[in-house]
Amino acid sequence: MSDKIETLPEFALRAFDMEKTYPAQKGLPPIRALKGVSLDIRRGSIFGLLGPNGAGKSTLINIFAGLVKKTGGRGEIWGVDIDQNPRQARAAIGVVPQEINMDPFFTPIESLEYQAGFYGVPKKERRSMEILEAMGLADKANAYVRSLSGGMKRRLLMAKALVHSPPVLVLDEPTAGVDIELRKQLWNYVRELNARGATIILTTHYLEEAQELCDTIAIINHGEVVACEAKEKLLKRMDHKTLTIQPKERLEQIPQSLSDLQAELDEAGALHIRYRAGTQSVGQLIEQVRASGISISDLQTQEPDLEDVFLSLTSGSPS
Ligand code: ADP
Ligand code: MG
Repeated sequence: MSDKIETLPEFALRAFDMEKTYPAQKGLPPIRALKGVSLDIRRGSIFGLLGPNGAGKSTLINIFAGLVKKTGGRGEIWGVDIDQNPRQARAAIGVVPQEINMDPFFTPIESLEYQAGFYGVPKKERRSMEILEAMGLADKANAYVRSLSGGMKRRLLMAKALVHSPPVLVLDEPTAGVDIELRKQLWNYVRELNARGATIILTTHYLEEAQELCDTIAIINHGEVVACEAKEKLLKRMDHKTLTIQPKERLEQIPQSLSDLQAELDEAGALHIRYRAGTQSVGQLIEQVRASGISISDLQTQEPDLEDVFLSLTSGSPS
């Protein structure tokens, strides 16, 4: 990037009390998809917007992309208000949409050149081929789009979002439906872009993805931000895991000597014990279970899933 350091904004993207209500249709009531979302996304970060399906992630992204009209609040991209200066604001952002939606009559290289033209990138500054190469699509530059696999189309969408070298790149569910190999490749590329200075914002409903890639994570549920902080801090707040024990003999009830644990017996006879990974040791838990007279036929530990995270973050607060 050619910008001088002192002219760079502190925040790549900001939302102030953003609201979206989709109007009623076909006898269904209106949907309040965003209920006053405020976010400050720092320049240079890899920011994860994590939430289950229907949380409002795409709605928020699409407002910044200019694809959805907000019904309230304010937004800034790269320090520029999206209502006052929409063109300037959008020049700073590249959005890779969740839905694969492409013109089937353009080849990948044509598609990128068209996009570059749309953004007014001068011919000599275009790097269409270089971008296709980085996305592993060089050999498909002149192929029919309809002959590309789903994964290739997704990479082409990402390539299109990169043609105007935006300092802010937004990826909406980049790896949904993408195989593991390609996922790793995409993650590496995202890290590389970030290392070269781009701010990356990605939405995901995979805790693992946010955990792996992002330095800051906001959790959004039912159109509200329920948490937003540095990844390490957030993970510490939700470090409970579950130890599942299959007893050799069927238990009728949880032994008295385990009453200090957060234990539950399921219908299949398995014993689930929730514990805090940071402070409780699995070894000691197993000892305690054995000491209560249970012989263990099988055991495993589970990481918290998104559902657990929401429960632990929202428990005790009205929703
Ligand atoms: P996410 O991306 O987190 O899965 P969305 O932003 O797609 O969530 O959806 C948030 C809510 O808004 C959902 O209840 C969804 O059904 C609703 N919604 C999304 N797009 C539209 C639309 N075009 N018209 C009406 N409702 C919509
Ligand atoms: Mg979505």
